[in-house]
Amino acid sequence: MMKDKKYLLIPGPTPVPPRVVEAMSRPIIGHRSAEFQGVMERVTGKLKKIFQTENHVFVMGSSGTGALETAVVNLVSPGDKVLALSGGKFGERFAELAKLYGGEVIFEDFGWGYDIDLNVVKKQLDANPDIKVVLATQNETSTGVQNDIKALGKLVAQYDAVLAVDAVSGLGAIDLKTDEWNVDVVCSGSQKAFMLPPGLAFISVSDKAWAKIEKNTTPNYYFSLLKARKNIAKWNTTYTTPVSMVYGLDAALDMILEEGLDNVFARHALLAKATRAGIQGLGLELLVPDEYASLAVTAVQAPMVVDADTLRKVLLKEYGVTFAGGQDMMKGKIFRIAHMGYADKMDVIIALASLEMALGKCGYKAELGAGVREAQMVFVGGEHA
Ligand code: PLP
Repeated sequence: MMKDKKYLLIPGPTPVPPRVVEAMSRPIIGHRSAEFQGVMERVTGKLKKIFQTENHVFVMGSSGTGALETAVVNLVSPGDKVLALSGGKFGERFAELAKLYGGEVIFEDFGWGYDIDLNVVKKQLDANPDIKVVLATQNETSTGVQNDIKALGKLVAQYDAVLAVDAVSGLGAIDLKTDEWNVDVVCSGSQKAFMLPPGLAFISVSDKAWAKIEKNTTPNYYFSLLKARKNIAKWNTTYTTPVSMVYGLDAALDMILEEGLDNVFARHALLAKATRAGIQGLGLELLVPDEYASLAVTAVQAPMVVDADTLRKVLLKEYGVTFAGGQDMMKGKIFRIAHMGYADKMDVIIALASLEMALGKCGYKAELGAGVREAQMVFVGGEHA
């Protein structure tokens, strides 16, 4: 095996296309130069297309959690009632942040592997008309669950509460129409569907959210959206912008827009379908049903005889393939295969082919080719009939 040949199939960071790497290697220019202002203006315009919004989208130097913290420190004042909707690790994180900054959090836990139940949300909103902020996750990366943000946005829009959505691992892979679906704050990050290295976060803010932010009493500094807003006219983030990352972002956004957003979503849907078909072809159990399965990452239950983390070690050592493991309570029980960002059909084939061989080494006799074949059938459709 060639030691340096690697296949990174985790839900972030994801592989970066050569075109993006090349763009990032341009010489640095001053972040307050006229030239860079032009780049920021251009990039922001393209980002708005990905966010499907007329709201401003801020570009920040931080990982995705920085965008979540930005949402919280600007929206949640001490004592504010917050409804946190959770079905996994990242739903929990959003809730923890709101608690940390003094929010009076109603933690609605749907359970790891389950999606948001809108009836429960409605009941909470009706019972607590003083809820100021609703927190939700679009794509719960820890379980591979995709929530119905369209329906959630429609519901929350009927109340005074502001809706903030963690779309760190979903935006750019899964449809999210920020304005049409009434999502007030959308948080995302660079290292997933955006096909960039880790290091940038993005956040959009609606007028309804600004009205809340203007009255906010939680102290903040680096993450202040009011300060950031003052700098929009200069097309700057408030502090020193990661110039090279923004060059990369410019190129990555071009790639997404050239492919076309709908085609990007369709590609992710196809890869998810093929991955799920392949897993079932091997007789393995998926963690979540088709109905709310993520288009960006697939969680698989390890067979009884196999520890998921041992399997992952074999995959890496023998084939150079990296899957993600389970987090917290799911550790050792599931593994997760990403198909987000710079991902295509052959990534799915590599994932399944290596999995078939590694399972055998771990004592689970999978029929070689059984998973790959199912995925191929999804890809070629009726062509082979
Ligand atoms: N939210 C979701 C849904 C994520 O998948 C992640 C990262 O995996 C985060 C938040 C946190 O992002 P970061 O690790 O970039 O801070």
